[in-house]
Amino acid sequence: MSIFVPDTETKLYGLLGKTLGHSISPVLHNQAFHDLKLNALYLMLETGEQDLGEYVQSLKNIGFLGWNVTIPHKETIIPYLSGLSSLARDAGAVNTVLNRRGRLTGYNTDVIGFQRQVEETGFIVKDKQAVVLGAGGSARAVIAALIQLDLAKITVVNRTLAHAEEVITIFQEKAPAVEFEFCELEEEKYAAYIKDADLIINTTPVGMYHAQAETKLVINPEYFHDQQLVLDLIYNPLPTELLKAAQAKGAQIGNGLPTLIYQAEASFKLWTKKMPDRSNWLKLGQKAVAEINQQ
Ligand code: NAP
Repeated sequence: MSIFVPDTETKLYGLLGKTLGHSISPVLHNQAFHDLKLNALYLMLETGEQDLGEYVQSLKNIGFLGWNVTIPHKETIIPYLSGLSSLARDAGAVNTVLNRRGRLTGYNTDVIGFQRQVEETGFIVKDKQAVVLGAGGSARAVIAALIQLDLAKITVVNRTLAHAEEVITIFQEKAPAVEFEFCELEEEKYAAYIKDADLIINTTPVGMYHAQAETKLVINPEYFHDQQLVLDLIYNPLPTELLKAAQAKGAQIGNGLPTLIYQAEASFKLWTKKMPDRSNWLKLGQKAVAEINQQ
């Protein structure tokens, strides 16, 4: 890609988070701006929890037209926005902001991205049971998508029980037709839920490259079987140890790269009203992950 020189007309976008080290979003968006000949730039926007309000105000003042939001700001950014899309409201989390003449609207394209990935697996999930591992921002997006996909039962398994209960309480009100349960991340408690589940999704960072966790497996993979679809939102490494273990048990598996690509595509479309080249993004994503793993 030739060197891009910004000017006074350059439209600004970015990724707002606390520690962005290995994100591949800038590679994807900047390549698409280049391919579509758009005078635009996607930057890393790092800030901690303390400065979030001031930082958002600065982005608005500078004239950023939109940005993605990641850990740990997906929920805490909400008070600084003027409005939310219905999916962002359902998820209680925002991963994309659109600045329309100073009015900031929050969207959640993770919901769309994850829903699309599940649909493309061909696995029938309607009226089935899912277990969501984790209860953070991405778990909320996953649950909102599972509700759209008409799952019959959703169980949230989480390290901190109170967080799982909080998430379940929010969604129980929004989707009374779905059966919700929650339990702690303890083998004797989660084992039966995992055995009975049709779809299991890891939304925790356990197993992620460079993560601080002592283990690479968030649960004992013993309970996986060949009638299940096991998905991991992590896209680095590809595949995770959890997915390798699930595959060894005969389960259908899927890594986090498709969700990442589809959510990025939906954000890009919101900002520019244009479509990036998806197959190019998939290749770029795989290449970027391979390069990170060589570091
Ligand atoms: P988050 O809001 O910080 O939530 C993290 C969740 O994981 C919490 O429920 C937390 O449990 C649990 N957790 C963290 N460390 C753990 C550990 N060592 N053992 C057990 N549980 C642990 O993060 P997030 O935004 O949901 O993101 C989570 C992961 O999803 C990250 O790896 C991120 O890269 C990935 N992600 C991927 C995509 C994609 O497009 N593929 C999109 C979004 C996110 P507690 O409640 O006990 O703290």
